Amino acid sequence: MERAWAKKSGIAWQGKNTLMLTKGKGSFHFLAELIIDLELETDNAVKDYCGNCTKCIDACPTNAITPYQVDGSKCISYLTIELKDQIPNEFNGKFEDWMFGCDICQDVCPINARAKQHKEQDFLPKKETLSMTKTDWQEITEDVFNNLFNGTPVRRTKYAGLKRNIGFLDKLS
Ligand code: SF4
Ligand code: SF4
Repeated sequence: MERAWAKKSGIAWQGKNTLMLTKGKGSFHFLAELIIDLELETDNAVKDYCGNCTKCIDACPTNAITPYQVDGSKCISYLTIELKDQIPNEFNGKFEDWMFGCDICQDVCPINARAKQHKEQDFLPKKETLSMTKTDWQEITEDVFNNLFNGTPVRRTKYAGLKRNIGFLDKLS
């Protein structure tokens, strides 16, 4: 549970969307840990700056967030990446065109709005994907999927999973 350790060690505070937040980077960072045999003093816990804000809770299209808890079984990231079965019909019309993961509760966060833009080339979207039309996505073949997403996290959902997700969005139109 990296987030619990990050909270205890004074790296960040846990936002109402459950992500770890720091001033300056918001939740746009990675947590990592070293396992060592030295006893170290921790920093003090970081103050929670969420205050009265409820933007992430209000914006979540599946109502997955209650303050400081996310119901994973309702989260679009879980439903489009981890779920192996069909996506339950109760989520019809709620995906807002997200076909792999969801960043809404990060996008609306005012702490993230003040974060510096990264300069990491590997985090930029592949140019080929930006020019793809809705039809291109609907008709994506396994070869195109492999060419576009080899070596990326999208492989995690596999071709069949991405097709399922796109098909689920199609039901809306
Ligand atoms: S990732 Fe999307 S669906 Fe999941 S909790 Fe955040 S806003 Fe809700
Ligand atoms: S949107 Fe508001 S409540 Fe949610 S994590 Fe960001 S600051 Fe906290």
